[in-house]
Amino acid sequence: MNIWFTENQSDSLRLSLKVKNILYSSKTPYQNLMIVETEQYGKALILDNIIQTTEYDEFFYHEMITHVPLFTHPDPKKILIIGGGDGGAVREILKHDTVEKVTLVDIDEEVIKTSKLFLPTIGCCLNDPKVEVICTDGIEFIKGKKKYYDIIIVDSTDPVGPAIGLFNKEFYNNTYDALKDDGILTVQSESPIINTNVTVDIYKTIKNIYPVTYLYTGIVPTYQGGLWCFTLGSKHYDPLQTTVNNIGFITKYFTPEIFKACFSLPSFIKNMLEGD
Ligand code: SAM
Repeated sequence: MNIWFTENQSDSLRLSLKVKNILYSSKTPYQNLMIVETEQYGKALILDNIIQTTEYDEFFYHEMITHVPLFTHPDPKKILIIGGGDGGAVREILKHDTVEKVTLVDIDEEVIKTSKLFLPTIGCCLNDPKVEVICTDGIEFIKGKKKYYDIIIVDSTDPVGPAIGLFNKEFYNNTYDALKDDGILTVQSESPIINTNVTVDIYKTIKNIYPVTYLYTGIVPTYQGGLWCFTLGSKHYDPLQTTVNNIGFITKYFTPEIFKACFSLPSFIKNMLEGD
């Protein structure tokens, strides 16, 4: 069999993965969903022809979007994830003993069901008793919430379709209100190589709202450009003043050294953020 899945990562860049099997395909009310088994990265969740996560490279992203804010906060108890229906972020968050409750709000119930069924190593903790899954629009869900969460993580699709409203000032203001006085927001912030303007916009918008704001980077081999950004907006705690001595559980990418290093930005990203 010589079948390839190709993602158009930009008008001039494509990523192709050799496919062993197409396991599932459906049109949900929100997006086209596919599960394909690839030779290189195992099973992959694909939404609207964009790779969301794969069995073998998901840990880069899920560890970085969760452990950086959770180790910045000294006592994270109540966590909200907006998006993240695959369950990878939930699995990582539950590794922190302090966590009492994780609320996952994904607009698309099909993503959650499919991940539990086809991607058990990623969706394994979605039925954990500490986890509440709510299938609704995160933009509406957050409105009116006051000082409730310790951490909010936005693990969304790219800023198109139902996710557009997860990338603007009104939404980030609502996250600010929904966080306790020492709460922390972390947002997946796209590729600094392919989606430069989006990355800069997210960072600058959050920086105008949160007193402590940093961009940090990680690697995700199947995402556009391979280098990925995250924005951390904190009401009080500063990750640069935080030292992680002992992780206390098993990770594949995140280490105490990476916690420190991920905030050291390459010059081209620094220049991007400093431009008008
Ligand atoms: N790690 C991935 C990435 O960066 O491409 C994101 C993975 S996760 C599967 C993205 C999820 O965001 C999808 O399941 C999608 O249904 C959800 N989503 C998109 N817009 C949303 C909204 N407005 N409210 C809640 N969830 C949303």
